[in-house]
Amino acid sequence: MQSTSKGLRLQIAILGKVNAGKSSFLNLMVGQEVSIVSEVKGTTTDVVEKAQELHPLGPVLWLDTAGFGDKTALSNKRLEKTIKVLDRADVAVLVCDEEETIEKEIEELVQNKNIPLIKVFNKKENCDVKVLENGLVLNVSNLSKRSEAISAFEEVLLKVCPEDFLTPPAMLSDLAPKGGLVLMIVPIDYEAPKGRLILPQVQAIRDCLDGGQMMMVAKETEYKKALDGLKIKPDLVVCDSQVVKFMVENTPKEVRCTTFSILMARLKGDLKAFAKGAEAIWDLQDGDKVLIAESCTHHASDDDIGTVKIPNLMKKKTGKNLVFEHVSGCDFKTNLKDYKLIVQCGGCTQNRRAILSRIAAAQNAGVYITNYGICLSELNGVLKRVLEPFQE
Ligand code: SF4
Repeated sequence: MQSTSKGLRLQIAILGKVNAGKSSFLNLMVGQEVSIVSEVKGTTTDVVEKAQELHPLGPVLWLDTAGFGDKTALSNKRLEKTIKVLDRADVAVLVCDEEETIEKEIEELVQNKNIPLIKVFNKKENCDVKVLENGLVLNVSNLSKRSEAISAFEEVLLKVCPEDFLTPPAMLSDLAPKGGLVLMIVPIDYEAPKGRLILPQVQAIRDCLDGGQMMMVAKETEYKKALDGLKIKPDLVVCDSQVVKFMVENTPKEVRCTTFSILMARLKGDLKAFAKGAEAIWDLQDGDKVLIAESCTHHASDDDIGTVKIPNLMKKKTGKNLVFEHVSGCDFKTNLKDYKLIVQCGGCTQNRRAILSRIAAAQNAGVYITNYGICLSELNGVLKRVLEPFQE
């Protein structure tokens, strides 16, 4: 249960002024002391994350934040982190005793980001848990009412939960008929994690099972043999971006093909915006800065896709002396105007909202953004071919 990726969890930010009872609310929901509760104002500094399963909704990730109205020396940094959480929160919870100016400001911030808001009115005295139209009333410290509090919260959450979490879009099962065949090319080189597949590959297999498709998985070294041995042609071939050129060269023209990274671009991002971003590669000039944004903090190998393969190929194909910078994890640069292009990874560890926030930030700064799979396909001259499955 706890191993569900963050990218597949509903992310719920807990907001409120300092000492409003945010950490107590989190502890009440999860039934353990995740966040330190103290009378001392501003005890929560960094964002505290806690995974939980809520029924019937599914896996969620709580994001407990530092409070607004902190007057300590670190207050600006803490507030910055709290506000940044809104770039990835699918739902926000505002813990308050009553609605004063600061709560109104928080509500406005949340509304400006189009995030559904649940208000939790924290009463000092013991009271019954009560469900309201847009929230609930309870005493966050009253552990004896935990079960009622969770049920009440789940009831309100179900009402405001974004539709794409309740009915997630297909990753690829809509691209092949029920009973059809999807052939996946999965290179197992020294970059592949030991003993397992990476998340986009696992997600693709699961989505085909949900969609009633059959799958065949082969390394690129066995691909031609697998294809030749089939009595029927596959309805779709999907490969790792690193072998996209090989896949296109060895796949019959009438068989549709794409990459895992492009499937992630459609699922979590904006395929059109990313494809437009790829065209901007050819306008890059000597000295232009390119930001490579990776959503996880994996250890980079000598032949790492983000730090080595994409920069080398981009320099080679454009013939330009480009400057590459990298960010990893949840961090994203604030000075985006300094870059001419952003290349985002598939983002399997982040939710759709986080990737869409990055696209919006890039567009607001007037910077093109693309993703790994689309960028590599463009650099290899096969982008049009691997986007064919998505043409309406
Ligand atoms: S680099 Fe991006 S796509 Fe690859 S595993 Fe990390 S988060 Fe997922």
